[in-house]
Order: sequence, then structure tokens, then C-alpha cells
Amino acid sequence: MENLLDMTISEMRALLKKREITAVELASFYLKRIERYDNDVMAYLNVTEDKAHEMARIADRKMEQGEDGPLLGIPFGIKDIFCTKGIETTCASQILKGFMPPYDATVIKKLKDASFVHLGKLNMDEFAMGSSTENSSFHITKNPWDLTRIPGGSSGGPAAAVAAGLCAAALGTDTGGSIRQPAGLCGVVGMKPTYGRVSRYGLIAFASSLDQVGPLTRNVSDCAIVMNEIAGFDSMDSTSIPQPVPNYTENLGKDIAGLRIGIPKEYYIDGMDSHVKKAMEESLSIFEKQGAILIDISLPHTEYAVATYCVIGTAEASSNLARYDGVKYGLRTEGKDIADMYKKTRLKGFGKEVKRRIILGTFVLSSGYYDAYYRKAGKVRTLIRRDFDEAFKSCDILITPVSPTTAFRIGEKTEDPLTMYLSDMFTIPSSLAGLPALSLPCGFDDNSLPIGLQIIGRPLDEALMMQAAYVFESVKNIEKIPGAFRKEHLL
Ligand code: GLN
Repeated sequence: MENLLDMTISEMRALLKKREITAVELASFYLKRIERYDNDVMAYLNVTEDKAHEMARIADRKMEQGEDGPLLGIPFGIKDIFCTKGIETTCASQILKGFMPPYDATVIKKLKDASFVHLGKLNMDEFAMGSSTENSSFHITKNPWDLTRIPGGSSGGPAAAVAAGLCAAALGTDTGGSIRQPAGLCGVVGMKPTYGRVSRYGLIAFASSLDQVGPLTRNVSDCAIVMNEIAGFDSMDSTSIPQPVPNYTENLGKDIAGLRIGIPKEYYIDGMDSHVKKAMEESLSIFEKQGAILIDISLPHTEYAVATYCVIGTAEASSNLARYDGVKYGLRTEGKDIADMYKKTRLKGFGKEVKRRIILGTFVLSSGYYDAYYRKAGKVRTLIRRDFDEAFKSCDILITPVSPTTAFRIGEKTEDPLTMYLSDMFTIPSSLAGLPALSLPCGFDDNSLPIGLQIIGRPLDEALMMQAAYVFESVKNIEKIPGAFRKEHLL
């Protein structure tokens, strides 16, 4: 049998359907890989082995009864930011240690309805605040391409797990780049859908006007398959878009002749890593060879995006995180009175970066500063969105790098939050504009570290973005799993 690691979800489904492999065997394949390799990568916070076996047995029974479905029996890893009924959900924070959600997030419910197999909860930056997974309060996840480097963040666990073949696919979240940046740095596909396309119900909130759920997968067709299952209106999320979901796999394989691709000059800057620059140039010529038309454009307010995000993101975070007070969830540290209990609990339960953002967010919302910071940031956000509206008059999609550099070394930027924030400069603007954006592996640097390419689309135009990504992926067949993680075929 061909190596399972090289198969798409539909290829795995075909094997399951023919009963050449059972769901229990497929789950065991991944669980054995986790046992063998996750000591190195440390992508998982909690491996739910018993649940995985139980779900796989149920999937097998369903298939015996003739049931079919695109995710039936497919093993997933889940970022630890989604509420999972009866499975500890920590958001990688001490303050949520021991929190057992009494319900499932809508996306988890949807995956369960599709009979997926849940392998476990994946590591992340605490409350999704970070770009390297170094802010997890439990441990640091390593980049499978080089274990001395970060996998990106905040969905570092999901990206590393997919890249090392420790799950078939994963769910992550993206507020300012948290799916796309780790996907780019780990060489996998990651999609942040249009704001409102996928339900946020049951997702632990960071910055509610920016947070979006999306898949991390080894290839574009898997991304489309997962999107088909998780997208759609949800009455439990007031920002959910009441629009039907197209079949995202339908356009895969169609050509891109005549596709107008915008190249925003603000994303091709001098300080960019030379390998990233070269990989982007080569990639753009591939799109051109496939019949696309490249158009130089400008998104003039790009330079204000990171600052705007720092105001809006922290403001919303400070409000959202006010609920962790030692009363309702997880950790509680007793004090002499209730105010003292709150203080001690929050002091002990939150890490450094989370505290920094709560303080900043509280400041920008406080009276006397609100107009100068928060209100102004809202106005700049509108200008950034208008830049994109203008660009999409002449372009169908935009292509940019995901990050200015490849994966940096563990510890390299921890003392310098500003450079850490700047590593998200290419992913933040589309988040502020609520646009869909996808990260796709497009090459490697001299150290064999993956480079990611970003496709930004019009609102709800995920299908076209995946169509273009699929064309590129089929032409440029990029290695997906690092050699070190292929040493044993455990099936
Ligand atoms: N890295 C960004 C931050 O630190 C984005 C995080 C995210 O998208 N959740 O806020």
C-alpha cells in the first residue's frame, strides 16, 4: 500500500470504503506516530486515545451499515481553543486548567456529525496570543522541519501536527494570521475563511471581530473537503453569514486562464528575506504560465495595519478575558476578599503576553484615551478595507508572501514583542478587512525551511482561491512531510 502520509483525505476515504483499511487501523496508525514522534515535536497537549478508538469503532460500524461521507473515519487534531464536551479545554492557559466544557463548539459538532475521529487537543500560544507557540503555558511546540525552530503561532500545534503526519488534518483559528503564518512556516495548507463563514460558537474568544475558524491540511483538496463540512450559517453565532455554502471541491482542477492576480507593492518590501522574495517571484511566474494575468497594485494603508490590530485586538481581548475571574472557570486562588481573589487568580493564571495585552487593551478603551486610540483604529480599519475593495475592482485574487522570513529559532524573538508582532505584517491587513486568505507552501529556503504564499480573496470567494491554489499545487509538487518523520512506516 502507498504510504498513508501521501494520501489526500479522499484517497484515504477510498481505502476505507473498499475496506482495505479500517477506521480503527487508520486511527492506530496516527496514534502510533504520535507516540513515536510527538516527544520531539510536542504538538499535542492532550492525546485522547480512548476517544479516538471509540470514535473509530463507531465509524467502522457506520461503514459496515453502508454509510458514506467525506470525513467518515478521518483522524483530526483540534487546537485547544475549541470547546470539546467532556475533554479538557485550556487554550494553553493555566487559568483554564481543568476546564471541562459542557458542550461542543459548532464546528466540533459538525465534525462529529460527519463521524470524524478526534485524536487530541493541540498546542497553541496562550489564548491565541502569539506567533511562535512560545507563549503556551505548557510547552513549546517545535517545527518538524527543524526542531530548533518555532512552528509559528498561534496554531503552532495544528501546523506542526499536520506537517509531521501526526493527524490527517487539523482545525485552527486565525485572528491576525494564526492559521496562515504557522501553515506557511511548517509547509502545510491553511485557510482563514471570510469573517462569518464558519461559526465561532464554542470557540474561546480572543478578539471577536477578527477571530475565524479554519482548516490546516496537507493539500488544497483536503482544505476544500474540510471547508465543505465546517462552513455555513449558525444561529448560535450572531456574526455568522446567512448564505448557502458552495461545494468547494467542485472547481478544483479547473484552469485559471485569464485570472487577474493583484500584486500589492507594499508586500514586496526591502527587508524581506531573499529566499522568500525568490520563491515568490518563481511562484508568480508559475501562475502566469498557467494563464493568469499579473497586475501591480497598491494597498496604501498597509503600513498602519499592525498598529491598528494592536489596538483593536488588545481592546477586544481585554473585554473577552474579563470573564476569567476564578468564579466560573478553571483556576481559583483564594484571597482575603473577592477583589483579592480575582487579583490573585488572574495574576497566577495568565502568562506575561496575555497580561501585556489586557493592560494595553484596557488602556486604549479607558475614558480619555478611547477616542485617540480605539475609535481612531476603527477608522483606519475602514481605510484598510477600502484599499482592498478598490483592488478587487481590477483583480480577482491577490498574492503576497505569508511572512517576511522563514521559521526563526526558539527564543530568538521572545524578548522583543515588537519584532514578533511585525512578523504578522502580511497576514493582519486581510484579517482587519474580514477577507478570506489562504496559505500555501511554495518553496524552501537554503536551510530547507518551508516558505508560504498567501492568496487573499473577495468576501466569500474561497472557492476561487482554492481553485487557483490547486492549480499551483499540481504544477509545483512540493514535499510535504520532512524526511525525519518518514523513517518508519508503522502500519
Ligand atoms: N500573531 C498574532 C498575535 O499575536 C495573531 C494571533 C492570532 O491570529 N490569533 O496576535
